[in-house]
Amino acid sequence: RARELGGGRQSWFDPAMHGQVVEQVRLEHDLRGALASGTDLWVAYQPIVEMVTSGLAGFEALVRWDHPERGNIPPGVFIPIAESTGLVVTLGTWVLREACRQIAIWQEEREPGSAPLFISVNLSTRQLADPNFVDVVRQVLRETGVEPSWLKLELTESAVMDKAEQSIRLLQELRTLGVKLSIDDFGTGYSSLSYLHKLPIDSLKVDRSFVSAMHQSEENRAIVRIILDLARLLGFDVIAEGIETSADANLLRALACDYGQGYHFARPLPPAEAGKLVGGSLSWQS
Ligand code: C2E
Ligand code: MG
Ligand code: MG
Ligand code: MG
Repeated sequence: RARELGGGRQSWFDPAMHGQVVEQVRLEHDLRGALASGTDLWVAYQPIVEMVTSGLAGFEALVRWDHPERGNIPPGVFIPIAESTGLVVTLGTWVLREACRQIAIWQEEREPGSAPLFISVNLSTRQLADPNFVDVVRQVLRETGVEPSWLKLELTESAVMDKAEQSIRLLQELRTLGVKLSIDDFGTGYSSLSYLHKLPIDSLKVDRSFVSAMHQSEENRAIVRIILDLARLLGFDVIAEGIETSADANLLRALACDYGQGYHFARPLPPAEAGKLVGGSLSWQS
């Protein structure tokens, strides 16, 4: 249609690209609306399991968008739009607050004496670049009554390595607050090994691609083993993501991986479902 409107003079115009731009602008507009109304966005919680005991250790908060006309739009589609427009700062603060509010409630429902659950929240580069970020975290913790050590922030390698020196200062500030830090999708970005040991972080998350490749070959298993060895050497604990089979789980146990997450244990769940795991009325296969 763009071609018809534009006539011959607009022959440089690529209708496919035009369609994409229109689509992005529409999604951005709708996302802005969803954030303002607070109705169609929600947070799913995927259990993170202690590998040795298969007990619940915490959750990763994963944002969900139920678009009124289009149904569920995956974060892989709308997070990049939120990032390119800066909306991800508002979105990220909303997820952080929501996840902290939720974990505070669940902590109350835990059996007395049991270890506190942690809540992992994904951060985007834009949030790290926001000069108010540390204040936002401090404020959210105070207002939700969440202990800083229950909160684990997940950062990607590129977010950290981009402006390494600057990031390290910020991460140190967060750690001074008592918040835990984790490198997400480890092994897929370009982590400089010379910086890795300088990063004030607590854990590495082995990317799903390595976990799902493990059963294919000894080489792939060796990669996971090396990541685990490296993490131990640097004093980080390791979370494996994308555990889909009991074979995956057993291989990771044999490598003494600390924590695991994946469809084998549980999918990202609506809050009500996740809550049943907290109280211990539901469990999963080990
Ligand atoms: P991520 O942080 O690496 O999250 C893990 C993703 O793997 C999630 O996808 C989860 O549903 C999926 N997953 C978990 N276990 C399995 C498994 O066993 N098999 C397979 N095939 N997949 C599994 P999801 O929820 O679609 O999120 C995709 C990405 O979107 C996340 O990757 C994260 O980078 C981003 N994201 C999600 N929520 C947020 C958020 O609140 N803020 C930011 N900045 N990014 C977010
Ligand atoms: Mg993550
Ligand atoms: Mg991940
Ligand atoms: Mg991932």
